[in-house]
Amino acid sequence: MPFMKLIGTGKSKDIYLADNGDIIFEFTDRVTAFDGAKKAEFLHKGMVCCGLAEYWFKLIEKEGLPTHYEERIGETRMRVANLKILPVEVIWRNYVAGSLWRRFEKGEIRLPEGTDAREGALIPNGMLEFTTKFEVVDRPVSIKEILDAKWMTEKELKHLSEMTNKINDIMFSQLLRKDILLADFKVEFGKTPEGKILLADEVGTPDGCRFWDRHAYIRGEFLSLDKDVFRKNKGDLSQAYLEIYNRITSQG
Ligand code: 5GP
Repeated sequence: MPFMKLIGTGKSKDIYLADNGDIIFEFTDRVTAFDGAKKAEFLHKGMVCCGLAEYWFKLIEKEGLPTHYEERIGETRMRVANLKILPVEVIWRNYVAGSLWRRFEKGEIRLPEGTDAREGALIPNGMLEFTTKFEVVDRPVSIKEILDAKWMTEKELKHLSEMTNKINDIMFSQLLRKDILLADFKVEFGKTPEGKILLADEVGTPDGCRFWDRHAYIRGEFLSLDKDVFRKNKGDLSQAYLEIYNRITSQG
């Protein structure tokens, strides 16, 4: 094992600097919700998130989008390129859920045109949102605020929005084949020293996506296979994570 220095502890990952300058992610079994107020550990969670991040990074690369993924180096470890992480998180929504529904119920936000005013409604053309990355609590930010704060240029923002749209197309269609609906997800991006924008952090894990069983949805139920199981006390997180892992990675 190469020399590694612990440089950060995230909500679910430990982050190390390798002696060649790369970053090593250690996916732990930790889970947190509500900005860290609710915490626990669940067996197999680290393996599931590491395995699914590897799965999606490889598929997204194959589809021509650049990512910071280098290689999986163990059941719960991944080597990635060391990027300057951009200060906004990008959220793509296909269905009304989570904080979007909460903000709508409080009258803080309008739903995109053509979207029914109910939890679980399809958002016909999808919806893109941005939240802060480096503030104590993530909060939604407008395009104007991102540009005014010079967090990104207009060109970079457009590029990153297009990349997120393509990532949604790749994941949504692949998941549909497994009878899973991708309700929403969060991604992060980073810049190489040359200024190239790459997909960063992790992608397509049940920590950062809402996955719903399609058959249950048709029956009018939300069967979550993601962190909502923990957020809403909907059962055993290990079991839900292993199920989504098996369904996504199984052949056919
Ligand atoms: P919401 O805004 O509805 O809480 O979240 C929208 C989507 O982004 C959900 O799939 C949620 O899991 C993901 N998401 C939002 N914030 C975070 C975060 O800080 N970390 C991770 N891993 N995912 C997030």
